[in-house]
Amino acid sequence: MTGEVRTLTTGVSHTRALAAALGELSRPGDLLVLVGDLGAGKTAFVQGFGQGLGVREPITSPTFALVQSYRGRLDLHHLDAYRLEQVNEALDLNLAEMLDDDAVVVVEWGDTIAPVLPHDYLEVRMGYAEGGVDQRDLRFVPVGPRWSVRMRVVATVVEQHGGDGTPADGGGGA
Ligand code: ADP
Ligand code: MG
Repeated sequence: MTGEVRTLTTGVSHTRALAAALGELSRPGDLLVLVGDLGAGKTAFVQGFGQGLGVREPITSPTFALVQSYRGRLDLHHLDAYRLEQVNEALDLNLAEMLDDDAVVVVEWGDTIAPVLPHDYLEVRMGYAEGGVDQRDLRFVPVGPRWSVRMRVVATVVEQHGGDGTPADGGGGA
């Protein structure tokens, strides 16, 4: 089993392109949880991901709604948990039902609603990097079986987008 995959992106279009490649590979029921500070590039990631998924509408931060849904090859539900005050609100969203609906769900600031997340998702940890204002550090961490078996594919996508695709734990293996 391959562990986490880590890479650097050198600008917003780099992040979007990488995310788009992952969007192309996404399957019904996939859940991605994006974690990182304000400005880390979570929304930029979702924009690219949506493009890869065939969403044509512009994707913006769901500022006034907790969730915004888009039609693509698969439906995309984009949640921003930043404004969630209580776990109750997250429960009301009925995440499980959204995932059942042949859709893909991407959550920004997923830490807030971690208690109600199905324990089977790809966590994308995004942060600022030391190399410059336009560099971001991205770590893809599988949580649960669904993504563990797909990390090799994630590593390949990262490689194709200029990263070295090296598992951050030095592992890899068969
Ligand atoms: P978040 O949703 O995490 O708060 P946004 O995606 O809204 O972040 O904003 C990220 C900002 O950082 C954008 O203004 C984007 O242009 C900029 N940026 C600069 N470099 C990158 C990069 N490598 N990846 C993503 N965004 C970047
Ligand atoms: Mg955002």
